[in-house]
Amino acid sequence: MQHLVRPNILKLKPYSSARSEFKGEGNFILLDANENPYNNGLNRYPDPLQLKLKKRLSGIKNIPAEQIFLSNGSDEAIGLITTVFCEPGQDNIIILPPTFGMYRVAADVANVEVREVSLMPDFQPNVEAILAAADDHSKVLYVCTPNNPTGNSMQAERIRELLEKFKGIVVVDEAYIDFSEQESCTNWLDKFPNLIVTQTFSKGWGMAGVRLGMTFANEEIIDYLNKVKMPYNVNELTQWIAMQALENHTEVQARIQTILQERKKLEAALSQFSFVKKIFPSDANFLLVQVEKPRELYDFLIEKKVIVRNRANVPMCEGSLRFSVGTEAENEWLVRCLEAFTSPRPSPSKEREFALSGDSAKPVSFEEEVLRSETDSLSLKGEGWGEVDNPILKFLSQSTPRTATVQRTTKETDINIHLNLDGTGTSDNHTGIGFFDHMLDQLARHSGVDLRVHVKGDLHIDEHHTIEDTALALGEAYAQALGDKRGIERYGFCLPMDDCLVQVALDFGGRPWLVWEAEFKREMIGQMPTEMFIHFFKSFSDAAKCNLNIKAEGTNEHHKIEGIFKAFAKAIKMAVRRDFMNRQLPTTKGVL
Ligand SMILES: *Cc1c(COP(=O)(O)O)cnc(C)c1O
Repeated sequence: MQHLVRPNILKLKPYSSARSEFKGEGNFILLDANENPYNNGLNRYPDPLQLKLKKRLSGIKNIPAEQIFLSNGSDEAIGLITTVFCEPGQDNIIILPPTFGMYRVAADVANVEVREVSLMPDFQPNVEAILAAADDHSKVLYVCTPNNPTGNSMQAERIRELLEKFKGIVVVDEAYIDFSEQESCTNWLDKFPNLIVTQTFSKGWGMAGVRLGMTFANEEIIDYLNKVKMPYNVNELTQWIAMQALENHTEVQARIQTILQERKKLEAALSQFSFVKKIFPSDANFLLVQVEKPRELYDFLIEKKVIVRNRANVPMCEGSLRFSVGTEAENEWLVRCLEAFTSPRPSPSKEREFALSGDSAKPVSFEEEVLRSETDSLSLKGEGWGEVDNPILKFLSQSTPRTATVQRTTKETDINIHLNLDGTGTSDNHTGIGFFDHMLDQLARHSGVDLRVHVKGDLHIDEHHTIEDTALALGEAYAQALGDKRGIERYGFCLPMDDCLVQVALDFGGRPWLVWEAEFKREMIGQMPTEMFIHFFKSFSDAAKCNLNIKAEGTNEHHKIEGIFKAFAKAIKMAVRRDFMNRQLPTTKGVL
């Protein structure tokens, strides 16, 4: 190894950060790093070696933590590998085009020669030619498997032969390994001291935005990478979010399966087009597709708001476009655009078929659909750090879900409730009482939860059981979904609403109590008896174990109760909001 590493890196005395000089465990007063002492969750420098994260990864990957290096995307690792091994103006790297572009860019930046040995027509490495191209200065060979942009996996036997015969470092880039059935080369780390395997959170893990790459190698190589990296190359937010993601890695597997199914469907759909000349077999989440008139198709798709990767001018990929596998709807849209490319005016029956196969049963015009997808992508970009679009809150709320399903069956009622506290305000409520449904819709909408309430009640007798039991089940759903209540605001309150003066104050403190100061002069609103309102909130308060203090004045009875439900929703919205940076119980008592 020593003769592969650049002499100046061997001699290098790395920067010693405050956090790497003192490694004590426990509570200390930290006056060593010139940080701001006031805790906002991020005022301290992150762990420079990301030990907690590596330990967790070590368990999942079955690789010792000392053999893991983490970086700001795999891209950073590729750059650092060049830094450690390649003397500028003297050494060279070998790449196997057509392949990923970053290997060359990293070498070009470092003024390191790049030797290209094309893959064979079947996109497998040409071992003989690679070995013939290498000399004493060939320090690094990049093998990408599954390969980007071709999508195929490299035969294990050939990689093994290269590891045995190539005199330098072999970097096996497994960015797409999560989509492949091929075994990871990390299994060979013990056998080959010159092996480096890179993987990433950007593809299968669905976390390209956090920028986190993994490198696996023997300890000695990892030590060199640690020597040359920037002191705090993986920031606190990334480490924190990756930890959350690793807790839920089974869900990631399910997503990957869906993407693979979609790839299969997309492949089948593409093969129907006469202008598709060849679909290359893929072990990744994309398809390389050779088409007639690639440039025209590429431009046509842009017009239809679909961006694909144009690889038409890449040697050995001539005439090809690379399609990433999207969601079901996105893939259907792509296929429909391809239909339009063959026959610019799709027949009315096709138009209809497509619309019906989408999410909504309502036929949608071509333009409408584009507009819709346009607004979707705009809202995904977000408007900065607004509450709703905060990408971190969005991510965290999905990775630590707060949902509940309550089934409550008695002789009088059969109730099924599904609640997602971190939803978007969608509702699907069927209690048999129209006005009650309307009130529950208000609750979902104005507190931003997703709520489904399905009730079969004994309405032939009266509304009492249906309303009261629904409230009990709903309260229970809130109690369940709130879980341990860590990080929640706990309190919520709300003041004037509409033309009525309504106050709803609420405390999820664990004790039921209801104060009700609202009078209703009409007996019924819709099919809902007004005397049941107090029962609803009493039952909810009992089951959710919350204090509720409700006051309402006004003349319009409909507005008054609607105001109460809206204010109730707003109060809930405030109280269930989580502060992810401060996962404390909102009490001094230690339990809620
Ligand atoms: C996407 C990709 C990567 C990932 O790079 P990150 O910096 O981790 O996002 C690495 N290698 C290949 C071949 C890729 O296609």
